[in-house]
Amino acid sequence: RTFVSELCRSANEVDNYARLALLQELDALDEWARGASGSIVSAILEWVENMPNALRILGSGPRPGCVHASHIMSGGHSGRRHLFIVGLDDDRFPGAPSIDPLLLDDERQKISERLATSSKGREQKVQAFVRLLARQRGDVCLSYSNTDLSDDASLLPSSVFQAAWNYFHPTGADACSGGRNDALTSVGFAPSPEKSVCTESEWWLQRILGGNPPDKERIFQKFFPNLWHGLLSSKARASNRFTEYDGNIGDRGGAFDPTTVGGPVLSVQKLETFAKCPLSYFFKYILSATRPEEPGMATAEWLTAMEAGSRLHEVFKTFIEELMAQGRLPLVGRDHGRLHSILQQCVDQAKRDHPPPSMSAFHRQIRLLERAADIFLVEEEIASHSSIPRFVEVAIGLRKSGSLSVLDQETTEVLEIEPGVFIRIQGRVDRIDESTNDAAKGYIVWDYKTGGTYRYRGNDLFHQGRNLQHALYTAIVAALLRRRVAPEARVHKFGYYFPSAKGRGLRIVSAEDSVCKGNEIVSALCRLMRRGCFPATNNAKEDCQFCEYAAVCGDVETAARQSQTKISNQANESLAEFRWIRNTL
Ligand code: SF4
Repeated sequence: RTFVSELCRSANEVDNYARLALLQELDALDEWARGASGSIVSAILEWVENMPNALRILGSGPRPGCVHASHIMSGGHSGRRHLFIVGLDDDRFPGAPSIDPLLLDDERQKISERLATSSKGREQKVQAFVRLLARQRGDVCLSYSNTDLSDDASLLPSSVFQAAWNYFHPTGADACSGGRNDALTSVGFAPSPEKSVCTESEWWLQRILGGNPPDKERIFQKFFPNLWHGLLSSKARASNRFTEYDGNIGDRGGAFDPTTVGGPVLSVQKLETFAKCPLSYFFKYILSATRPEEPGMATAEWLTAMEAGSRLHEVFKTFIEELMAQGRLPLVGRDHGRLHSILQQCVDQAKRDHPPPSMSAFHRQIRLLERAADIFLVEEEIASHSSIPRFVEVAIGLRKSGSLSVLDQETTEVLEIEPGVFIRIQGRVDRIDESTNDAAKGYIVWDYKTGGTYRYRGNDLFHQGRNLQHALYTAIVAALLRRRVAPEARVHKFGYYFPSAKGRGLRIVSAEDSVCKGNEIVSALCRLMRRGCFPATNNAKEDCQFCEYAAVCGDVETAARQSQTKISNQANESLAEFRWIRNTL
């Protein structure tokens, strides 16, 4: 009672009547409960549950000059000259059969033919509808909604609508052809002609959409502020200026500047995301927007590419750590069984975490994982002729479980990207080997890649800033080695290593001078961040295909084309660095 009397919203006269009726009903219930004996809780709950649907307020019979609304199963008795029946789409009427899960239809039939079944219920509804039509003497207008506004999906008419249509148009077009059927009249929120308008909003919409009046923008601004902002943003995005609607949100007091003390901590992934599409960086790392989970979505695959990749990383790490602890180098003949048994343990765990959707999906993935393990072992034996694994999964600025090496640190690493400008970096280095080749002394940093090689194969390994790991990890690992291992230690090379069925053991090694160029790119990206510039990518084909924000951006081709227009406009000085990255690199 307190909830209804004190907390429920009551904004107008109708609400007040409803509240009063509910309170009276609750008082009656209270009085009855005081005198009742035995277990009455379930009866009270049932009563309360049904009460909002059962109560009627301000009810009245049909009156002259008024529209009278009634339920389809109880209306049509007042002999009106005009009857409008709405809601005749196939979802709504006669509705889906509602089967009693406790006593199924065929069980009911076996008990007694007189017991109601779901199909009988639908039949009765249709018969009641036919009787409703049969007793009409005036005009009858049947209608259904042919568009679901929430999903922007087409709806079909109900079977009774279709039957009525066929009766009057035995040789004409099908009613299901909806908007394409000229004989069916479609109406919407902007009625035409003007005389059919009922509300002020409809009148404005009719004027705006029907007549394209010169004062359209003023009308939008005054009466439809949300549409007005949408109109503004569309115009701004279509222009060649870089505006706040395109990701130009300003420096916000340095909130996005990673070069200040207390500014955001960076990682390779963050920087590469920014270089790929600053707008996706904004969504992911500033707004922290995540795609809603879709529970129950059955997929044909077992593990996602990312999950499979991280399981393989785990297998490689365990295997190499074991060999390092034993002081041995990998040998295919000797270690094949051990590597596959580590893989098997990992697969068993993955099965417990994510049961496979089907055995065929499971076996398909197992074959790929086993092939990756075989490729890895062969490659490791070959590499062991010229290098020795020294460190695996080095954590920088991150917590690490298990034993720590001299290179692991929970604090971030500070990098000087240009004289006097520093950023803080965190990350995980998959592998650091030491070269045993006298002609090329030093350390080799490897990053396992379990996906495709496309991004790394072009002439420019940086790929317009989309690949920065080789430069950043070379600089970070070199600094750590000098501090913790030996002052003269140097990183001889960095390589992307593809021990997977797709990559077939390919190793792509970076040029020695990558650190300087990497710093130049990172520095340019940081200046864009500092100014609060987050434009969309200008290359939808390259960057949008697997982007988790594609649904937010909508027409990504248009978004990228518009971004290119702004990047090309020299007057947009705040985009100078992005222009340089996209046009020069
Ligand atoms: S869909 Fe394309 S434009 Fe949109 S955020 Fe992702 S990469 Fe950027």
